[in-house]
Amino acid sequence: TFVFGIETSCDETAASIIKNGTEIVSNVVSSQIESHKRFGGVVPEIASRHHVEQIVSVFEETLKQADLTFQEIDAIAVTKGPGLVGALLVGVNAAKAIAFAHGIPLIGVHHIAGHIYANRLVKEMSFPLLSLVVSGGHTELVYMKEHGSFEVIGETRDDAAGEAYDKVARTLHLPYPGGPHIDRLAAEGQDTYALPRIWLDEGSYDFSFSGLKSAVINTVHNAEQRGEEINPVNLAASFQASVVEVLTEKTVRAAKEYNVKQVLLAGGVAANKGLRSSLEQAFINMDQLELIIPPISLCTDNAAMIAAAGTVLFEQGKRDGLDMNGHPGLDIEQF
Ligand code: ATP
Ligand code: MG
Ligand code: FE
Repeated sequence: TFVFGIETSCDETAASIIKNGTEIVSNVVSSQIESHKRFGGVVPEIASRHHVEQIVSVFEETLKQADLTFQEIDAIAVTKGPGLVGALLVGVNAAKAIAFAHGIPLIGVHHIAGHIYANRLVKEMSFPLLSLVVSGGHTELVYMKEHGSFEVIGETRDDAAGEAYDKVARTLHLPYPGGPHIDRLAAEGQDTYALPRIWLDEGSYDFSFSGLKSAVINTVHNAEQRGEEINPVNLAASFQASVVEVLTEKTVRAAKEYNVKQVLLAGGVAANKGLRSSLEQAFINMDQLELIIPPISLCTDNAAMIAAAGTVLFEQGKRDGLDMNGHPGLDIEQF
């Protein structure tokens, strides 16, 4: 089967063709980062306009790379939520138009389910499994007992990990998106600033990053007021050490408690080198448990992951109608 995936939930216009659920035939991502940079974040109106301008050429390039036409496509999979509503609607309406014009089945995919299924492009899933999802808008531990079944066992109570990275980066006057810049500085620095580890209640799998973010901002402001210099490299390293320690500890504890066969890393922050190596260290001696980490290009937003998740839904017989809508707050347990 060939599934054509479409992703427009935020600031990447992306399309991809996946063969038999696991093989990438083509994968095109058109990023708008340059247009949003000067505003320090994604501007929804600009995002929607870019998607409209880019989507046709992204589709053409995707078919061209695969040397296929829409006649040979078995299903169209598109992100229907969560995300920016105007951005989602561009992908959803393009998907509907193609599905209608060519008589191809249409499947709406949850964006975070897509991030998780990026892992299936690396290795076949074995259940039950646990996924640590860390992205710009989400930080959660998702338990899956089988394909298409998602149980959120813990989630952030305030900022997402990626959001905290981007806000801390802004405080350190680094360009948007700040995650990769903090990651780069952290690799050169040391954990010298005593920043908090936010564990929440005993046994909880929830997360909280706003206190840590405020601690970094206060450190910078207090130094400025005293006319002192901060060490941005060590501050980045200290911030990253706190984030990585909490994410790793909770993931290991949940993996043991839920007795899973695999642990999958997912979402844009999965590109973080500190997090990747901390998880690799933590799981190295656990023989019963397999850790999967996607290549960096499949961690940040792309449509290969949407086509991968869409293939599983297609095989399960799930279909959406031409009345499908964009759902900015779509729930992964319900969709
Ligand atoms: P969501 O997936 O929750 O809807 P999103 O799609 O906007 O949100 P992603 O594209 O999945 O988010 O991830 C983007 C986030 O990943 C940004 O916050 C970015 O700073 C962060 N990020 C990317 N690379 C790194 C890195 N190396 N270290 C830390 N954070 C990173
Ligand atoms: Mg993005
Ligand atoms: Fe995402």
